[in-house]
Parts: sequence; structure tokens; C-alpha cells
Amino acid sequence: MNMPQKEYMNRQEDTCFRRGIRITLNKKGEDIYVKSRHPVKYGCYSEIETPEAVFQFNLNNEIVGMQGQQDNWPSSLEWLKRTTGNDWVYYSTGGYSGTYESFGKDFLTEPIHFKIPSPYNEIYKAIGEYYVPNFSYISNSVLGVDPFNETSVQNLISSWYDILNTSLQPSCDFPEPFASFINEVLKITPQILQDRANKLFNIIGSRPSVLPPDTRHVDYNVIPLSLSEGCIYKCAFCEVKNNRPFSTRTASEVEKQIEQLKQLYGHNLLNYNAIFLGDHDALNSNKDFIIENAEKAIKQFGLRNSCMHGCSLYLFGSVDSFLASNDSFFQQLEKIGCRTYINLGLESADQATLDYIGKPISAKQVIESFKRMMYINQEFNNIEITANFILGDELPPEHYSTFFQLAREGLDHPQNKGTIYISPFFSTMPSRSMLFYFNQIKRLSRLPTYLYTIQRL
Ligand code: SF4
Repeated sequence: MNMPQKEYMNRQEDTCFRRGIRITLNKKGEDIYVKSRHPVKYGCYSEIETPEAVFQFNLNNEIVGMQGQQDNWPSSLEWLKRTTGNDWVYYSTGGYSGTYESFGKDFLTEPIHFKIPSPYNEIYKAIGEYYVPNFSYISNSVLGVDPFNETSVQNLISSWYDILNTSLQPSCDFPEPFASFINEVLKITPQILQDRANKLFNIIGSRPSVLPPDTRHVDYNVIPLSLSEGCIYKCAFCEVKNNRPFSTRTASEVEKQIEQLKQLYGHNLLNYNAIFLGDHDALNSNKDFIIENAEKAIKQFGLRNSCMHGCSLYLFGSVDSFLASNDSFFQQLEKIGCRTYINLGLESADQATLDYIGKPISAKQVIESFKRMMYINQEFNNIEITANFILGDELPPEHYSTFFQLAREGLDHPQNKGTIYISPFFSTMPSRSMLFYFNQIKRLSRLPTYLYTIQRL
């Protein structure tokens, strides 16, 4: 049985200190996702602080975050987050030293020069967030260094459970409800967390190899619900595709998933306000099926009663499924009352580039999709269509000129919707050069333009 929001929100924060350990129950972080220059905790959680580290736990008493406290921890601004797929993701400032800016060049006798330190500038310009998520698996990121090489990070990942076990035993030194909380925390071993992640992948059919880039707006905290699997193109260049042909789930399969997900997420459902309708082209499903299941899932998961304000839906679409979606579908989507993001893999408006990367669509379809994206974004307040394009040194110059015809010459003023995510195409180009070219594209684009960070569930 899940905890009613009111019951949890009425609980007072409570702290206990024993043997140099602090335990705080019923903590409440931000209740709205923000773009912050400082580390932020979201939703309802509890915290344990030992001399080695600070640990956060969700409403199921599963560990969800930690930060080393010893001198060798890379930065007091950086931390580790555990995802529902049981990955540890390291949030870093990107290792940049900051930029130098001048003020008053034309009207002060002596212009003021100052430094804007990281993470206040480059990272935000590149990915739209103040922190770079770093993964222990291969991704496409061109930013920062690898924090998983740091001994302090490796040690905390491998020994967090032992640290807690050693520090917290015997739990009877702590009064209630702290002693019970400790017992619950220690029951959930790293193996149990891995089993729960595997159970999640079984419920939804498989592990999503990539989340829509727009899920960054909720710090990638989405409940996955598979409406379909596979995609219709199987592009040669794509490293996240699966080999399964596109197929749609039945209504009863989706209903079963919702029930099982509710059980698995348990009390911690209260911390979620977003759903990822999977997987690679959910928009290619029957349109009534999408609307019905989105509404059902929002209701069943209780997203409107979440600790986190607002509610959002994320899905991927293809050129074909997008062009086949009529206005009436978007009107129904708009009426759901959630913010919906649909991400399209357009990749290039140049036919030679599409052929080179093995994407079986035409430049004409890409141009048509881009124009329809602008139209939908203008007509519907709660919907944002976003698009992915590639960047690479071996692509023909026409790839870039056709991009600017759409994202610059085709628009008479800068827009705040229709985000473009640039994916580095496999290449020998060093990260720094890639960033240089990305910055040129970003400067000329009249749409919000960021690097696409591929994160799995
Ligand atoms: S880019 Fe999208 S459509 Fe193409 S293979 Fe990958 S997942 Fe499928």
C-alpha cells in the first residue's frame, strides 16, 4: 500500500546524533526541478552522515545518493546518484577552470576583468544543466574527465554498504524510529538493489538503452512504461538500437506493467512526477492507445499527488510517426494537462549525410518534420517537440549548410522551444575540437541547442 502524500508531508524532520553519526528522517528537498549552480536534493528522503560520507535514501529506504567527506573526494560540489537501473552516476562540474569575461569595455576607463568559475558557464552552455552526469558505462559525452578513475569514488561505490553496516551496528544504540530505519536500510544490500533493477527491466520487457534527452528536465527521474518496443529504421550508425522489429504492447500488457511498477516503486512513487513512454518510437503506436495509457498511468501512479510539482511525459518519435500524427492527437495530448516532450531523431537535412550514416529516411521528410515541429511548438503550450542532429568531422559541408537553413535562416528570431540536441557522430575528432565546432553551431542556431548526453535507465 502506498503512502498518501498528505501523511508523508505532515511528518516533521527528525534528527538523531550518536557515535559521531547523524541520521535525519523525513527530509524535504526541492519540490520542483530547478537548474541550479549548487547541488540540489529533490523530493522526500532521509539522510545518514558518517565521517566517511553522507548518504541519502528514498522512501523505500534504498540508497539513492552519496558524497565522500574525506579530503581525497574530488569536490564538495560533486556527488554520486544511484538510478533505478542501479547505475551510479557521478555529477561533476566538468573539470573546467572557468571563463574570463570583461565588463565596461566601451564606457569605463579601466574595464573590469573577472573570472566566472565552473560550473557557472561552459557546462550550462553545452548541456543546458550546471552539472555533467558521468557514467561508468560507455556513452557519447565529450565533456569532462572520468571521475570513475578516482580512488575515492571507486572506494565509496564498492564499500558504501560496509561503511553503513560497520557504522550503524548495533542499531539499538539509536532510539525509535531511527533504529527501525537503520534495520530497514541494512536489509537492502547491493545485491537486493541489483535484483530490484533486474525486476524493473523484466516488468517493462528490457532495459531502455537510452532515455529521451529532455528527461534532463526532471534529472532523469522517470518511471518507464513500455507502450512499444524496437524502432522502424534500424539506422546503421545507431549504437543504442535493439534488433527487435517494431511492435506495440497490448492494453492488458500495459495494465499489468502499471500494476507491477506500482508494487515495485512502492512508497517512493511519491517522489515521481514524470513518465517515459518507451521505447525507441512510442509515437508510432496507435494514437488513442498512447493517450489512453498516458492518462491511465498518470492516474494509477498518482503523479498529480507527487511530492514534486508538475507532471511530465517523455517519448521518442520518428520522422514517419511524427508526420503521421495529426493535430487532433496533439490537442488530446495537450488536454492531459502534463508537459509532454517528444524527441525526434532527424540527424541531418542533407541526403548525402543521411545515406552516409545509414538512416533510411529522406532529407525532404526531415525538412517537413522540422517545419511541423516549429508549428506544433507554437500551437501547443504544453507540448515541446525536440530534435537530434549529428556532428562529426567526416560529414559533408552540406550537412551544416542545410542545418543552418533550417535553424537559422528559416527562423526570423530566436525561439525558446524546439530544442536541438547535437550528438557527436563516431569520429576521431578530439573532445576539445568537437566542443569548438559545437559552440559555432550553438552560436548560429536560433533554437536552444545543446549536446545530447546519452543516459540509459
Ligand atoms: S536512431 Fe532511432 S530509429 Fe535509428 S536505429 Fe537508433 S533507435 Fe532506431
